[in-house]
Amino acid sequence: MTFEDLKLKRQFLDAVEALGYRLPTPIQSQAIPRILSGKDLIGVAQTGTGKTAAFGLPLLDHLDTEWGHVQALVLAPTRELGQQIAEQLEKFAKHKKGLRTVAVYGGANIATQIAQLKKPCHVVIATPGRLIDLAKRKAVKLDRIRHLVLDEADEMLNMGFKEELDEILSFTPEDKCTWLFSATMPREIRRMVGQYMTDPLEVKVNQSATVNKNIEHR
Ligand code: AMP
Repeated sequence: MTFEDLKLKRQFLDAVEALGYRLPTPIQSQAIPRILSGKDLIGVAQTGTGKTAAFGLPLLDHLDTEWGHVQALVLAPTRELGQQIAEQLEKFAKHKKGLRTVAVYGGANIATQIAQLKKPCHVVIATPGRLIDLAKRKAVKLDRIRHLVLDEADEMLNMGFKEELDEILSFTPEDKCTWLFSATMPREIRRMVGQYMTDPLEVKVNQSATVNKNIEHR
């Protein structure tokens, strides 16, 4: 299967080509068509499998830059992962004019993040604790979110973000799409899936599907 077969728009095909991706990874082949169709998905996959592009490319395809409000929220456990996701999304959106993403996380100046969120922005990438803080200060509005990504969901629970996740999900509309990625599926994640997701398709990839970062493909 090629990226063309996955029915991504030309601008994203050009972006992945510029990044040197030749063929979709297993999680990308399985997740991209499902996410493009606007249905819920669980991706049992760890870092290194290409999961960021698996949700990032079809997520960007859904966004309408004519609307200046936050349409997508990506939650990640750590500041480092949040920054990596933001960097990758910007590369994938190289040809999507006017798209603006903002990454917010703890341990950084909140006033700067509030100022960033005042300008029109389409995707917010956040760690749960900082997002709650910003929502309580009314610096970010989550009531018009259409797409939600929970990345490394098991790690967010391991870091003690269970209550924060429930609170954030309560701020978002019910009729959104939810795409959850997790390396493992403990009982608490199954509970969240049952509570917040609608008829999700579950796709699994194993460690051997990891893209080795030290190999250059020619
Ligand atoms: P991730 O699992 O999203 O952290 O991605 C792991 C690494 O694989 C990142 O450096 C990506 O840029 C790279 N990558 C993602 N998809 C592909 C692909 N289809 N072909 C080659 N490299 C990829």
